[in-house]
Amino acid sequence: DPNVMLSFRFSPYRARQRLLMVRDVSRLTRLEQMRKDFVANVSHELRTPVTVLIGYLETMLSSGDEKLARYQRPLAQMQAQTKRMSAIVDDLLLLSRLDDERTRLAQEEVDVPSLVCMMVEDARILSGEAQHQIEAEIETQVGLSGAPKELQSAFWNLVSNAVRYTPTGGQITLRWYIDTQRQVRFEVRDTGPGIEAHHIPRLTERFYRVDAGRSREVGGTGLGLAIVKHVLERHGGYLDIHSVVGQGSTFACVFPPVRQTAPRAASNKSA
Ligand code: ADP
Repeated sequence: DPNVMLSFRFSPYRARQRLLMVRDVSRLTRLEQMRKDFVANVSHELRTPVTVLIGYLETMLSSGDEKLARYQRPLAQMQAQTKRMSAIVDDLLLLSRLDDERTRLAQEEVDVPSLVCMMVEDARILSGEAQHQIEAEIETQVGLSGAPKELQSAFWNLVSNAVRYTPTGGQITLRWYIDTQRQVRFEVRDTGPGIEAHHIPRLTERFYRVDAGRSREVGGTGLGLAIVKHVLERHGGYLDIHSVVGQGSTFACVFPPVRQTAPRAASNKSA
């Protein structure tokens, strides 16, 4: 580094200071790696016990054993909470994988338009009695090169958040298009409660919630948006969030510009 050389020549003291700073940074990197490894190991170790618990609870609940009848409610509660724990462990494992530069992600052509149509169906099932109006606007047929499972998980996190946070009868729109800067975008727009501006930069932090009580009620792991952020970063993209309190939110996955000019398909709305 020319700066270090210069200051070494003119001020040996400052050079020493800089050298110390470099050492300190490498110590921080090491600590950070230890933290990552620790989280990955804990999640991995919890996987088996949680799976065993779910299995036994399933057997007990469906056994029809009369002696267990009076424990039906607590057993069902245990099952629900164990499933929640399992979802958290799965999300932590996925985050650890994404966070580790050594893990290679698949690189395949992903048919995003088909994926969007499938997600509309799944979103309608998740919405159930809440009867949201869910539709897709597919404005380009271009696909995406990347890791199919991880991309699907990121997209679904946004769609399921929209369904879970938007009150009954609200509107949810999934959109796949190329913006004016030729970047491909997968956007999820909802007419939900919206989010105050000061929360927005922190939403992708692990376990950050605007309203912890409400989020637990609607059943998330608190890791969804952190996963979205990491998946997008691994694909050279980013998460763009716009929200107006009382009107709704738009979460957009933005991918690097497409190279060749792809023909734009006619707007393909499915109501
Ligand atoms: P969670 O599992 O709690 O939903 P996420 O990481 O997916 O975790 O989201 C973080 C927080 O962002 C949520 O707890 C919620 O407060 C807020 N949030 C996410 N999506 C929406 C949305 N579509 N509308 C309003 N708030 C949202």
